[in-house]
Amino acid sequence: MAVRAAASSVAKDIRSDAVQRASAEASFHAQYVPFAHIKASADGEVSGPPPETYSLDEVVYRARDGGLLDVQHDFEALAKYDARYWKSLFDSRIGTTRWPHGSGVWSKKEWVLPQISDDDIVSMFEGNSNLFWAERFGREIGMSDLWVKQCGNSHTGSFKDLGMTVLVSQVNRLRKVKPDEVQAVGCASTGDTSAALSAYCAAAAIPSIVFLPADKISLAQLVQPIANGALVLSIDTDFDGCMRLIQEVTASSPIYLANSMNSLRLEGQKTAAIEILQQFDWEVPDWLIIPGGNLGNVYAFYKGFKLAKDLGLVDRLPRLVVAQAHNANPLYQAYKAGYANFRAVKAGTTLASAIQIGDPVSIHRAVMALEACDGIVEEATEEELMDAAARADLTGMFNCPHTGVALAALLKLRERGVIAPNDRTVVVSTAHGLKFTQSKTAYHSKEFEGMASTYANPPVAVKESIGSVMDAIRGKFPAL
Ligand SMILES: *Cc1c(COP(=O)(O)O)cnc(C)c1O
Repeated sequence: MAVRAAASSVAKDIRSDAVQRASAEASFHAQYVPFAHIKASADGEVSGPPPETYSLDEVVYRARDGGLLDVQHDFEALAKYDARYWKSLFDSRIGTTRWPHGSGVWSKKEWVLPQISDDDIVSMFEGNSNLFWAERFGREIGMSDLWVKQCGNSHTGSFKDLGMTVLVSQVNRLRKVKPDEVQAVGCASTGDTSAALSAYCAAAAIPSIVFLPADKISLAQLVQPIANGALVLSIDTDFDGCMRLIQEVTASSPIYLANSMNSLRLEGQKTAAIEILQQFDWEVPDWLIIPGGNLGNVYAFYKGFKLAKDLGLVDRLPRLVVAQAHNANPLYQAYKAGYANFRAVKAGTTLASAIQIGDPVSIHRAVMALEACDGIVEEATEEELMDAAARADLTGMFNCPHTGVALAALLKLRERGVIAPNDRTVVVSTAHGLKFTQSKTAYHSKEFEGMASTYANPPVAVKESIGSVMDAIRGKFPAL
């Protein structure tokens, strides 16, 4: 009760606020528990403490039975503070340069990694990405309340930064407490994870090693880890092959595994959900559409929304939509079959290369998230995803192909009337379009065989003469 009284006096003076914050931070705690326990507790199949727990200072990626782990927060400690306390605390940190709270991730530190010292944090003030009203695109598709969350407007150009600041911060700490066990960090990647990992490791002078599928990522994504000094292995396989190799390598060497199987990353990614709520002044959107590949991000969003709801900051969850490329759609197929018997697929080539994944590590996490919020899975063909991106680009955006997948899903759900005209809908843009100029350029040059490139707008080659220039202008704008 004493703590509650203190919490309600949050705005009294800055000294008591600081004292309260320091003592509060000391009481928060998080640990690894089996994901299966989280799921069984949510389903009401078990109650009580988890059978197996690990300190976040342990180098462990899987439960004893081989299942995934999850970061579980001491909910009782967080719940000692009321919703008003959390809202005003988080709101007070937005847009500051105070270390580390100037970061959108670390502004929610108590809900992310409460025990790490500020000194160990490796951050580039990621997060705080813009959420904008897609007014014109919304109007064109009959929607009044359509928003795009620009998670790709970030340090390395994708949402992966949100998770990587948390993982690399914990690694930075582990290298001090367990120097023998953690000497370098490695990941398999479809491009964006390796860019984020190498940048954060470079900032903290930690060696990084990235496994990339040869010729399956964009040039911009390839040059990022090269520039940041990572050891870049371009391997003659696909992402799933790289993933198998990195797991073997990290199991038998002091190289820490940075893939999203590692649940630390999801703790950072979940702050995007909290940030969206905050940006809407703690109102819950009706829909959130996310492109999904390995499927960690949809679970991270769910975790963020769920924690905000459980702590009373909001009263419901949005409905989540995972959008997959038709060529790599194992979750979509499982959804159609009622999630009954999930089967991995061999991922076909997709221009949405970051989600070209046939055997998603976080499949069970994703199904749990979708079932908890009456979620939906949609898919998009190559033509649909490129057309959707290009069509939205014509209203001022510059979308990556993955965001194109989410936009294509939006169009389908809108056409079927599943999403209503006035539903508040957020499309999560996962990467910056400038990382994918090759495929966007090819679309506008109509280079893709069998694709109409309906919205192509190729440059017009013109001779250096006023006549040719005017002909070209009048070709497009006859009234001029
Ligand atoms: C990683 C990534 C995704 C997929 O996220 P998952 O957590 O693997 O589902 C989507 N888009 C982009 C741009 C990405 O880099």
